[in-house]
Amino acid sequence: MAQKILEKTVSFTGRNMRNSKKTKVRTWYGLDGTVIIGAGFMHKSGVENLIIPHPAVINWLLRLGLLENSATTLRINHEIGHLQSAPLAVLYTAANYTAIITANQVNLFNLILVFICTHAAWEIMSEILTILTDPQFYHKCYQGVSLVPRAIFWLSTISLTLIGWIMVLF
Ligand SMILES: [Zn+2]
Repeated sequence: MAQKILEKTVSFTGRNMRNSKKTKVRTWYGLDGTVIIGAGFMHKSGVENLIIPHPAVINWLLRLGLLENSATTLRINHEIGHLQSAPLAVLYTAANYTAIITANQVNLFNLILVFICTHAAWEIMSEILTILTDPQFYHKCYQGVSLVPRAIFWLSTISLTLIGWIMVLF
């Protein structure tokens, strides 16, 4: 899957002068997306003026054991994957909330559970897009790297997604 990359810049920021990499992309739905990896444990990504900072938990787990350059490329592609799949994720989340509202199942626990389970599904979408961006490169990056972190990711996100389905369907 080809990404329409508009701009790539590297700046040195933060206490330890660690790289912060900024990538601008045109999303398929026509908005300009921005992804900033680093400095430190933070990522920022979003479209147009809506740029959301977040801790890099999933990208940290998934990129354990990778060479720095490979990890950075996959981190950027994963964040771009979030932007590209955002409309689907919004629809999916809205459908899940609609289901618990129409089933009269609205309470704090269910609201939080739907948030977590739909977010897990969004992580799956983003990582699938990361793989599809360049499947051969993805495979090469992980040669000789432990399967454990990826197994934790896929098992936990698939389980949470299924828990979400069970909750809204039954
Ligand atoms: Zn993610």
